[in-house]
Amino acid sequence: MSKIQTIEGLVELVRGYNPNADFDMIKLAYDFAADAHQGQVRKSGEPYITHPLAAAYILAEIRIDPTIIIATLLHDVPEDTVRTLEDIEKNFGSEVASMVRGITKLGKLKYRGVERYIENLRKMFVAMAEDIRVMIIKFADRIHNLTTLDALPPQKRYRIALESLEIYAPIANRLGMDDIKGQLEDLSFKHVYPKEYDRVKKIRDEKLEGRDKYFASVIKKAEEELLKSGITPESIQGRNKRLYSLYKKLLRKNNDINKVYDLVAIRIIVGSVAECYATLGILHKIWTPMKGRIKDYISQPKPNDYQSLHTTVFGDEGEVVEFQIRTHEMDENAEFGIAAHWHYAENGSRMPSREIKWVKELAEIQKDILNKLSDLEEIKVDFLQTRIFVFTPKGDVIDLPEGATPIDFAYDIHSEIGNKCTAAIVNDKMVSLDTELNNGDVVEIVTDKNRKYPSQDWIKIVKTHSARTHIRNALKQEGKMSIKKLLRSVIPGKKN
Ligand code: MN
Repeated sequence: MSKIQTIEGLVELVRGYNPNADFDMIKLAYDFAADAHQGQVRKSGEPYITHPLAAAYILAEIRIDPTIIIATLLHDVPEDTVRTLEDIEKNFGSEVASMVRGITKLGKLKYRGVERYIENLRKMFVAMAEDIRVMIIKFADRIHNLTTLDALPPQKRYRIALESLEIYAPIANRLGMDDIKGQLEDLSFKHVYPKEYDRVKKIRDEKLEGRDKYFASVIKKAEEELLKSGITPESIQGRNKRLYSLYKKLLRKNNDINKVYDLVAIRIIVGSVAECYATLGILHKIWTPMKGRIKDYISQPKPNDYQSLHTTVFGDEGEVVEFQIRTHEMDENAEFGIAAHWHYAENGSRMPSREIKWVKELAEIQKDILNKLSDLEEIKVDFLQTRIFVFTPKGDVIDLPEGATPIDFAYDIHSEIGNKCTAAIVNDKMVSLDTELNNGDVVEIVTDKNRKYPSQDWIKIVKTHSARTHIRNALKQEGKMSIKKLLRSVIPGKKN
């Protein structure tokens, strides 16, 4: 990252994955933007053009389509300079102009308090619906802004980082863009929870110190055994778990680093699905697998389409090692998600089109969020409150807004558990349903199978929008409450 970025460097990067790109056009976009931003400086004191160039680098490093690279170079021109969208359209065509228009519509972040979050979110989904490429540019824009946050005043720094953590990263996750999500999270983590960041980093570094040789020997042994069985892996690499993801896991494991088995995961890429399963068998012949840790996300992909086989084994020195086994295509999809559609593979070919699928996914995500947006007051509460992490007795983490109750928790697990809950056990103690939950609580819900409907009073107790919606729906079904009564209970003081 410390290498000086230049337009020549960017062009070479793009040439590496697409020798047929229109390099003149990329250079022209750079010159156009550099000229338009002439005299402007970033808060860090650097010339403004370093920002769009850095954002374009971020996307070129993940081998993104050159048209998107061009739009990225131009992304701040209409908003910040005298050059207009029409100028861009004249020079670079309607496709590039339309992406830049999308970014411009999203606007710059000018914090105007609470409402701004809602507005941002709504705009983002509208932009995504129109052209998902706009979101990809926005992610790159945000990642670079996060790397240069130190130049901003602390309050602003915190807000941008928090927004990235609470809104951008989850969207990247839902779009299956693991690499982008990871970058957004780790860059924000440092600013949102600086003490925790330092603590987790120290724990990780201490645990990993001097382990390089050990992991190298595991990799070597795995490779030898695979080759003996006629499988030539495309690559075998160890990867450190990202810090924010480690932080969340440590919260679930009482901060016991020894219970984190994927601090380093060894990723094996092979040629076919059949070889994935064969590889799993071979690893289990060398090392004993840990019970309950074999996960087949190939036959059962995660909701965001992630596919891979995972297993944790006891290595030669008794230490546990996690393996992730997948094909090249699964790997690209896991790293880039929806962006894989505009991504160039190593051999210069494009990934197969996922268009139909992602349009459907997007529609679902949108419906989800826009439904929530119909009630601004509530989503505001959900998004802006500090989050707490609580756990099921099995150790699954549930994140809730501060002040949430066991009822919120119950509805987060399943609406039926919510409707039938009668009491809660928090940290082994029976508590009433309006008890405020705290970070790290282990919560168990007591249900009554004869109970059919929630209590009307719960609407006033719960903190999450989703619990409130479930309660309302259940009560509507019950039919005991008139609409008028319902509205009165939800909006105190409102006359009907
Ligand atoms: Mn920008």
